[in-house]
Amino acid sequence: MRRQRPTLIAVSTLIAITLTTAAPTPATAAPPDQVTALTAHQADGYTTLAWQPVDGATDYQIERTPVDADGAPTGAPTIVGIWRPNRQINQQAPTFADAGYNPGDTFQWRVRARTGTTEQPYSDPVTATTTAPWGNPDTPGEGLRTGWETTHAAQYTSDTDEYAYTAAIDALSDRVRVVELGRTVQNRPINMLVIGHPTPPATPAAVAATAPVAINCNVHGNEPGDREACLIMARQLAFSTDPRITDLLSHTTVLIVPTINGDGRANNTRGNSTGQDLNRDYSLIRQPETTAYITMVRDYRPVAGYDGHEFGNSRAGDLPMLPPRHQNVAQPIFDQSQDMIEGHMYAKGAEAGWWACPYGCEGGGNVGLSEETILRNTLGLKNVTNSLLELRSSGGQTRPDEGNTANNRRRKTYSAVWTFHQFLDYHRADRADILNSRAEAIETQAANTGRLVFRGSRPIPAHPAPHPGDSPPPLDAPPADLILDTPPCAYKLTDAQYNGARTDGPGGVGTTVAQRIAAHGWKVITIGDDHYVPLNQPERGLIPLLLDPKGVEKLTDGERIHPTLTGRRNGPLVVSGFTCADDATINGPVTVRAGAALVTTATTISGPLTAAGAAGVLLADSTINGPVRIANTTDTISIIDATIAGPTDLSGNTTGTDAPVLAGTTIRGPLSCTGNNPTPHNLGIANTVHGPRTTQCAAL
Ligand SMILES: [Zn+2]
Repeated sequence: MRRQRPTLIAVSTLIAITLTTAAPTPATAAPPDQVTALTAHQADGYTTLAWQPVDGATDYQIERTPVDADGAPTGAPTIVGIWRPNRQINQQAPTFADAGYNPGDTFQWRVRARTGTTEQPYSDPVTATTTAPWGNPDTPGEGLRTGWETTHAAQYTSDTDEYAYTAAIDALSDRVRVVELGRTVQNRPINMLVIGHPTPPATPAAVAATAPVAINCNVHGNEPGDREACLIMARQLAFSTDPRITDLLSHTTVLIVPTINGDGRANNTRGNSTGQDLNRDYSLIRQPETTAYITMVRDYRPVAGYDGHEFGNSRAGDLPMLPPRHQNVAQPIFDQSQDMIEGHMYAKGAEAGWWACPYGCEGGGNVGLSEETILRNTLGLKNVTNSLLELRSSGGQTRPDEGNTANNRRRKTYSAVWTFHQFLDYHRADRADILNSRAEAIETQAANTGRLVFRGSRPIPAHPAPHPGDSPPPLDAPPADLILDTPPCAYKLTDAQYNGARTDGPGGVGTTVAQRIAAHGWKVITIGDDHYVPLNQPERGLIPLLLDPKGVEKLTDGERIHPTLTGRRNGPLVVSGFTCADDATINGPVTVRAGAALVTTATTISGPLTAAGAAGVLLADSTINGPVRIANTTDTISIIDATIAGPTDLSGNTTGTDAPVLAGTTIRGPLSCTGNNPTPHNLGIANTVHGPRTTQCAAL
């Protein structure tokens, strides 16, 4: 179990908070069942109402009345909210985030308890002016507004409005660089805002070094509430002088993709223009939109993410969330994601009045399962701490005044703004834990131990009462025929499988398996006409789902290659062809011949390891008691969680676009890297080197 932080983080997550004047002190003592001590905190697009609980209350009703500047009513009082006990984890301090109004307007609120169906007296009223849309309208940059904001949520921001808005942010803010990740099927740009302080790092690799966070919006084109939040938040991050914002942006880079499905948004459809649900394509990457996102994940290496949606279950909480639960996701990533949701979002939701809860919820049906095609799971399998975010589409049973479309839209969007800011605060506060979980996950995956599951989820137990949701998602246990107890070492693909034409993309034309594997960033070794994808690499949990014959939604039927070297072996070893060692002890020097490949897990080699002109060398969870010299490799190099007792030298390796990896490894001796193209990197997992590190490896 991940530890629970004993104290809440001190950084406020609310922007431009103002506290209303205190409720007037009643002249006489309040009746025993009257709500007292009502307060109203203002934040972006919502008001947190808080009060003293009444003994024996079944629920509470929140009443809002529009008033003028003098506090005189300008409209009828309306029940806008119902507080129920399953709403928050801390029931001793009830809160309700009232939203669904025009930001900047002035209201009076009252709250009353109900005992059964009996209405108790209302509290004394509190009157306050709500927070106007973020940014001084007269200040360049801050004054930008989306089409959704200028129409008071009557219309969603159009594609052309979005491009103009993001281009203006790009032009006016040094903190922002807008990059085009790709184009949709209908040739709309897929933009990403890269945001840092004082400026974003210049290259994807430099961004990756900041442990970036990624927010993905609007994958379902007819679920646009979070997209508007992404756009508003981009403006806040670009121009705010709030020390909290500049602090956040000084410690990481925020990656915002406001519209991953631009064609679906323009046509208000769930899928893209081909009808494909893009959130069932992130592993297969048949479509240009998902390919763009997955390639971004490869290059920018976000360590945490949120993926925005809307949910049609009217009985759900405000903000259903769910971690990556596919059983091939490494345990530390699942635990860290759960900590983000249940440890942080549930606690902060109880403070702000938002009802975060598990996806599924009462009557939620068969949702939130293990499909690796869903971004939540794909990212988890890529060792990214992350969560699904749903915005309840309707006002539901607890927000009776949201028949009004604009008010309903505003509640959804500002609840997403709240969540995304909370996400950034969580990353800021728990960055070390997130990075430790990622490192543990990568090392666990690369060790290639334990069963593989083709479909099946980790259970999400109900949160201990008082819990913020009625029901967790379905169990989704893996069926026996989708479990592989003994993992292979690698998958072998024929050249036809690897490079052959495909018809599973738009218009019956698909990219090759080779291109998709490259987009995922997996290491591949080619020997003759055969292409090997070893499992001793960071995305070990995802590879079989696409390449094993048992994969439920796979790319091809790769051939399982099992280890050929196990147990004890004495004397020198010369490796030719594709050789896989697992749980082996090799007493003697090992030489990898030109054009050959060595893949190891849980293996000890005594004596030097030498590879000259090899196709590939991939060592994980292994020990080399002697020097290691790898030169002139042609395809790929990966050394993860190894111990090398001797000098280590990587030189003259030219591995195309695939950078050598040296991560989480202890080297008892000098480390030298010269003439490698590309330059080796460490996946953000530092190595321990008991000797000088020189030239290309100086920073590893
Ligand atoms: Zn959705």
